[in-house]
Amino acid sequence: MTWLVQPSLVNEPFADPGAFIDFRFGRRALLFDLGDLTPLSPRQLLRVTHCFVSHTHMDHFAGFDRLLRVCLHRATPLHLIGPTGFADHVEHKLKSYTLNLLGEQSVDFAIVASEFNGVGFDRVCKFRAREAFRRRDIPAARLSPGVLVEEDEFRIDGALLDHGIPCLAVAFQEKLRVNVWSEGLRQLGLPVGPWLRAAKSAVRQGAPDESQISINSDLSMPLGILRQHALRIARGQKIAYVVDIAYHDQNIEKVIALAHDADHLFIEAPFLEMDADIAAQTRHLTARQAGEIARRADVARLVTFHFSARYRNREDELRDEAAASFDAGRDTRERVRSDQRIS
Ligand SMILES: [Zn+2]
Repeated sequence: MTWLVQPSLVNEPFADPGAFIDFRFGRRALLFDLGDLTPLSPRQLLRVTHCFVSHTHMDHFAGFDRLLRVCLHRATPLHLIGPTGFADHVEHKLKSYTLNLLGEQSVDFAIVASEFNGVGFDRVCKFRAREAFRRRDIPAARLSPGVLVEEDEFRIDGALLDHGIPCLAVAFQEKLRVNVWSEGLRQLGLPVGPWLRAAKSAVRQGAPDESQISINSDLSMPLGILRQHALRIARGQKIAYVVDIAYHDQNIEKVIALAHDADHLFIEAPFLEMDADIAAQTRHLTARQAGEIARRADVARLVTFHFSARYRNREDELRDEAAASFDAGRDTRERVRSDQRIS
């Protein structure tokens, strides 16, 4: 089965947190957090359609400038989603520049900043390059509670967590993984073509077997036949991203609900349990706590990161502590080191 997206950390685990979610097909990517983006090429950044900013502490937001600079001359909008108050931060970033060179002749690039309150959007603001990024309030999309983005192939859920300030955690959920089986296509005598997209979309939307899929102007085929002989259907992948949260029941319950059964959980593990008091003061997790949450959420793979610089020479201790807590009572899990690409 081919995966829809490939997630990887943007930086090594002691540097700014962030994950790049690259689509296997199509020129598209998502970003979780907006810290230092140096390792990402302009080509990669130009693919980003949506960026989810957990909160606007500098290590999660200082990459805004680079992303803006790279995207300023593209025609497709950049969607930024953050917690309550986020649109003000975006506006202030934009206001820090001298923008007299922007005007009606500029490429029609727009930033859409949405503020998520844990259930829905409080405010959505649009900033167009042609209007020198003057702020305009626009209506929010009507989505189910807790949903940040809903598209044909995937959905992104959000939860607002407590880090002393509201902090956004997100989960990417592919709806269904639908792949084409070329041998099956050949046996049915069907050509590869744009119709396959419609067939996949019909499967994801739960269309009945008798639905007719148009292959070309002369030929159509019931979806059930295609489903049986030419398409391979599996559960979609799920990727959750959680940073900067205090360890208390309310946060833990929200993370477990959000990340439940994820293929990958990216979760912060800044401190060792021996420094749990510092973690509590700064409203962060320890590695043991991160592992415990991952175990309780029943995720397949744990990826820890956002390590405190105080452990620069003790990286293995952070990893081992999280792994021991994650594996406690179960030994079948696959662990992935946070410095590895995941496929
Ligand atoms: Zn942080």
